[in-house]
This record gives sequence, C-alpha cells and structure tokens, in this order.
Amino acid sequence: MKILVLNSGSSSIKFKFFDDKVVKASGLIEKIGEQTSKVVLKNTLNDQKFERDDAIKDHEHGLQVLNELFKESGILEDLKVLDGCGHRIVHGGKTLTKHCLIDDRVLNEIDRVSVFAPLHNPAHLAGIKTMIKAAPNVPNVAVFDTAFHQTMPDYAYMYALPYEFYDKDSIRRYGFHGTSHAYVSSKAANLLGKSSVNVISAHLGNGASVCAVENGKSVDTSMGFTPLEGLIMGTRCGDMDPAIIPFISKARGLSIEEIDSLMNKKSGVYGICGYNDFRDIESRVEKGEDRARLAFDMFCYRLVKYIGAYLAVLPGTDGIIFTGGIGENSALVRQKVCERLSHLGIELDLNLNSQRISTERIVSTVNSKIKVCIIPTDEEFEIARVTEELVNKG
Ligand code: ADP
Repeated sequence: MKILVLNSGSSSIKFKFFDDKVVKASGLIEKIGEQTSKVVLKNTLNDQKFERDDAIKDHEHGLQVLNELFKESGILEDLKVLDGCGHRIVHGGKTLTKHCLIDDRVLNEIDRVSVFAPLHNPAHLAGIKTMIKAAPNVPNVAVFDTAFHQTMPDYAYMYALPYEFYDKDSIRRYGFHGTSHAYVSSKAANLLGKSSVNVISAHLGNGASVCAVENGKSVDTSMGFTPLEGLIMGTRCGDMDPAIIPFISKARGLSIEEIDSLMNKKSGVYGICGYNDFRDIESRVEKGEDRARLAFDMFCYRLVKYIGAYLAVLPGTDGIIFTGGIGENSALVRQKVCERLSHLGIELDLNLNSQRISTERIVSTVNSKIKVCIIPTDEEFEIARVTEELVNKG
C-alpha cells in the first residue's frame, strides 16, 4: 500500500512516504509563508535529493510543490494514487480517544480540542484540509499522540483539583509521545521474546517522557495536561511546585504568558547550563564545567525517580527501554541512570552499552533481573502502520 505520513506544523510539513511498509521518500516543506521557504524530497533508496526554492505561500501551495517533486522523482505519479494519508495529531482531547479515519465530525473535533494544543492542532488541521483538496478520494487517518495513554486508570490521570475542572474543563493528564511509546513497547515484546510485556519506556529527545506499560497498555506516563509535566527536558522544566508560578509572577512582575514561555522555552537543562543539546552538555561535563554537570545530574536523577515510581506501579517489569535522540545515542545517560538502579537488580553491560549500533538491542547483562533495551523509535512507521490498518478496515 502507498501511504504518506504528514506531520504538519505551523510553518513546516515533515513527510515520509511508504510503499508496502518500505520508506521510499522523506523530506520537509519548510519556512512556509517566508521568502526563503524550501521543499526537499529525498529518495531514501539512493539518497538522491529533489529541491525547490519557490516562495511557498501556504500549506496548500507546499503540497502542490511536493506533488511536483514526487512526479519528477518518479517515486509517486500523483498524490491522488495514494492508498491513505496518516496525519500526526498532537492532541485528541477527551473525545478523540482512538486513532481514526477522518470525516467531518473528526475534523470539527480536532478543531474543538485545539484549545489544549493551540500551537499544534490548528496546523494539523491545515495539513489535513490541504490533503483533502489535493486528493479528495484518498482516505485520511488521524493518529493522536494522546491515544496510547487512554488506557490509564482514572486515579492516574486525574489531578487533585476540584472535580469540576475535570468535568467542565477537561483538565486531566493526557500524556504525549504515545505513538513512540506504543511502537517501542511492541518492539520490546519481540526483542524480549514475549507476546505481551510490562516495560518502562523512556523517550528522551528534546521533549522527554516516561511511560509505564502493562501488558502492552499505557498505565501511567510522565507528561500530563501538556507536554510540560514530568522529566526535565531540553528547555522545559518538567515537575515543579506549582506555587512557584504565582510567586515569580509577583516577585518579577511577569505575566502568565511570560511564565508559560519561561517554563517551556528557557528552562530545563538549557535553563541550568545554557545548552539543550546533550552532545554539548556531555562535552562540557568532560571539560569539568560544573553547570553542565549539574544539568546532566538533574536530568538523570529525575529520570531515575520516574523509573523507580513505575517499577513500583507495575506488577513486575520485564524491561526498561531507552529511545529518542538522547535515549538511543547517549551511552553516558543510560550508564548513569542504570548505575543508580543497580540495587534493584538492573545490570548494564558496559561494553554493549557503549557500542554505536543503530538497531534495537538488549544492553543489560544476562544476569540482569530487568532487561535494558535500546530501541530506535520510528513514529512515522507507526503512523503508516496504523493508517494502513484503518484504511483496510474501511
Ligand atoms: P525531538 O524530540 O526533537 O524529536 P530527538 O529525539 O531527535 O528530538 O532528540 C534530539 C536530541 O538528542 C538532541 O538535542 C541531543 O540532545 C540528543 N542527541 C542526539 N545525538 C546524540 C548523541 N550522539 N549523544 C548525546 N545526545 C544526543
């Protein structure tokens, strides 16, 4: 089946094209609305690149140019011949609890729940509408970052605010990175040779979250109402005492919007040491820079706390998964985190852990009570898989 996966942002669209589950092309429409906008399509089989520097007016124009590049590359004769298009949607709110084929009702609902993801959902909608215009007969599928976490029990997803804030305002923990946690936890089942697993999945990228997976289902996760909660991230603070917000508002005279931006864009490891890329942080730790050491230690310690909490929550844990840019590539983060957990019977094989291989693998010793796995995430593949499944069901 020919499946296109779109991840539409406000000024960019990332895409991957799958033909019978094999990636044939990937690329980006970037800086939409700017003079310097660009469309790049890469033939993933031979690395040949096709580019256009047209000033892309809007999402619709972007997709037209992409269609031309698809034709020029000979990879796809027209978007109209696709069997389906999968759209990554950040937020499904309380109502869109499962991935689904998109119809008018779903479109309206994605629009309605935009209040929960004001930066993302409107851009996703623009992507979907553009696709409908370009290829009206191709089925579109919505794949929600929040859907995998819909199996969390109520006592895990509720906040202890007055109940009406859940009832009337839909304030609850939703969780994110669901597509990634779903993908890597199902891969872990294969890797560990089990039909169903209990795992703790740590997706560590610029955004980072941990998920407790019981029998293949999410039962808790560290991100909450928004992706701000939980782990310390590149530029997000994660958990902190909520009373700090009114305090700094008064002490510094900052508005709610300014504090929101401060917590999302200027905090995290960046707020502590001035760098949000772990490669920079690690090289500075090596040089003995204390702020980098502090940021690194804080990041790992928060992760250890969450893994510890989920070890307590799960009725037994088969494995811990590291994924995302940091989880897959930083041997040092994995080592520091697992060292702290060694009293629980987690034993990393330092040799396996330091090997630079990009395939999924177990990096704990044979004696380790809980296996430690590195599983490269592939959210687009998972979106394409779900899209295929729902299109086939009809
Ligand atoms: P996103 O959350 O934007 O999808 P990724 O999952 O691609 O991000 O993760 C990006 C981050 O991964 C980088 O900012 C960097 O901190 C980290 N990273 C990438 N490669 C390495 C590496 N070799 N060593 C340590 N960290 C790395």
